[in-house]
Amino acid sequence: MTISTEEEYKNAKKIFRDEPKEFKTSKFAELEKLVKDALDSIQDSDRALILITKWALSFWSSDVHFDNGDEENVLRFRIDWRLVNVFSLSKTQYKLILERLKYKSELKLNITSIPQDGKFRINDGDNKIDIRVSTLPVKNWENIVCRILDSTNSIPKIDELGFMWPSKRKIQKSLNKKNWMILVTGPTGSWKTTTLYSILDILNTKETKIITLEDPIEYELPGVVQSEVNEKNWYTYETWLKALLRQDPDVIMIWEIRDGQTAQIAAQASLTWHLVLSTLHTKSAIEAIERLINMGLPPYILASSIDIIIAQRLVRKICVNCREEIEADSSQNEIIKWMMKDIWIEAVSKAKKEWFKLYKWAWCEHCSHTGYKWRVWVYEVLNFNEEIKDMIRSWQSSETILKEARNQDFILMREDWVLKAMRWKITLEELFKVID
Ligand SMILES: [Zn+2]
Repeated sequence: MTISTEEEYKNAKKIFRDEPKEFKTSKFAELEKLVKDALDSIQDSDRALILITKWALSFWSSDVHFDNGDEENVLRFRIDWRLVNVFSLSKTQYKLILERLKYKSELKLNITSIPQDGKFRINDGDNKIDIRVSTLPVKNWENIVCRILDSTNSIPKIDELGFMWPSKRKIQKSLNKKNWMILVTGPTGSWKTTTLYSILDILNTKETKIITLEDPIEYELPGVVQSEVNEKNWYTYETWLKALLRQDPDVIMIWEIRDGQTAQIAAQASLTWHLVLSTLHTKSAIEAIERLINMGLPPYILASSIDIIIAQRLVRKICVNCREEIEADSSQNEIIKWMMKDIWIEAVSKAKKEWFKLYKWAWCEHCSHTGYKWRVWVYEVLNFNEEIKDMIRSWQSSETILKEARNQDFILMREDWVLKAMRWKITLEELFKVID
C-alpha cells in the first residue's frame, strides 16, 4: 500500500481505531465499603465526601459526578476524559451527600428548583483541595457535579511539558522580549492554563509584577497577584480587565480571550509594554489568527501584538507497566510516512532502511485495564517573524501564512506527535482521536 493523497491517508488511518477497554479496578469496592460505612453507621457525610474526593484525586479524576436517575443514583469519576462508574448510592445515602455538599458550598438548602453553584475547600494536612459544586434540578431531584481543583499540585516546569527543542527555543526567545502577547490555544480540557502557569513560573521574579485574571484560580503562585473573575454585581470580564491594568503590572495573565473587547484590551496592553499571556479556543495556531480577526481585532494590531501562538492537545500516555514495543506494519509505516512527508523524518528512516517502532498496550492492574496512564501534550508553536507579520498585515490567506511558516521551522501537531510516539512510547490510536 502507498499513500499519495490526503484522502487515502484519511481512509488508511482508520486502522488505528482504538477500542476503549472497560475501566476495572478492585479499589472501587474498597472505597464503596468505606463510604457506605461512614454514611450508614455513623452518618458522617463529611467523612464520606473527603474519602470520595481523596480517592478521586488518587485516580487523577477531574470531576466527581453524583448522577440521579429513576432507578439508581450513581457516583462516577471522570478519569482521563472518560466517565467511570464507581458505585451506586441508595436514596438515603444520596440525600446525605447532596445536603452536605449544598451546606458546605453555601448553597440554599431549601431551593431545589433552580441550578446553583458554589465552592468549598478541603484542608487535608498541608494539602488544599478546592471543590466547585454545581447542582441542576432534574426530573425527580437534583443532580450534582463537583470539579476538583487541587491547588497544591505542583506546576510542571517548562521542561516537563514535552516541547521539542525548536518549540522550546521559540518560547524562550519570546520570554526575553517582554512586550508581546503569548497565546495558548486548544479545546477545553487541553490544560492550556497549565502551560501558562509554567511560563509564569519562569517569569516570576522579585523585579516583575505579575497579575492574573482567572476563572477559577487553579494553582496558587506565591509572588503573583491573582484575581478571580466575579461577574456578580455590575462588574463584567471587561471591567475587571481594565481594573487590572491600572495596577501597573509588567506581566498579565488573562484566563481567556472571550470576545472582541477582551482581544482589543489584551492587544493594547501588549503594545504598551506589557507581556500578555492568554488562551483562546481554536483547533490550530493558524486558526487562532482567523478567529482574532473575526472577533474584530484589526490585522495590523494583531501582527504587532502577538509573538507566539502555542496550539496544544492533551492525550493519554501509554501505561509504562504493560506497554510492548512493536514494529509498525507496512500500512502503518505508510501512514507515518505520509504524516511526516514534509519534514526530515522520512529521509532519516529511509537512510537507515528501518521500520518505525511503535508501542502497543497490554492492559494491567496498574492502568486499571485501560492501557493508559497519565497524560502527555502535543504541540505546534507558531512564531510571528517579520515575514508572517507582513503577511497578516496585508490580509494574506491562512494557507499562504501556513506555507511561509512551514518554510521556517514550524512543526505541525501531528508531526510533533509522531516524533513523540516513537520516542515517548505513546500510541497513534490516541492521537487520531484528537486531531485530523
Ligand atoms: Zn498497564
